[in-house]
Amino acid sequence: MTTRLIDESLFENGEPHGGDGPRLLGARCSGCGTVVFPRQDSCPRCPDGVMSARVLPVSGRVWSWTLQAFPPKPPYRPPAGGHRPYHVGYVDLGEVLVEARLVVPRAEIRIGLPVRLTTVPAYRDEDGTEVVTFAFRPERDGER
Ligand SMILES: [Zn+2]
Repeated sequence: MTTRLIDESLFENGEPHGGDGPRLLGARCSGCGTVVFPRQDSCPRCPDGVMSARVLPVSGRVWSWTLQAFPPKPPYRPPAGGHRPYHVGYVDLGEVLVEARLVVPRAEIRIGLPVRLTTVPAYRDEDGTEVVTFAFRPERDGER
């Protein structure tokens, strides 16, 4: 079975399971230090900063969350078997808020929960390729 990332431009490398796992790739402004994700060519906060690639931290904390009970609008594609509700929210990585799926059980999810970057299957392409997207899961004690 082959696997690919949903959008390789979002990641540091194109390998979904390479090395230490995926790292999200944002951009940082040389003028004011603002970090954005996904990458942008111009700074949202100042007129003359130069944006350069910035690998984002893998750990953060849940900043807000909600339950995605209904299928989102396209480009969302439901997985085989149809849409199942999942948690989604913003994760505070210290320098930027990232909107992401949260692979966290209902009993555990809360604002401030420490989470860590992971990938989850999103859907399957027509040719059978499993497409994965980024998500955050609870960071367990003892993990680096
Ligand atoms: Zn700026």
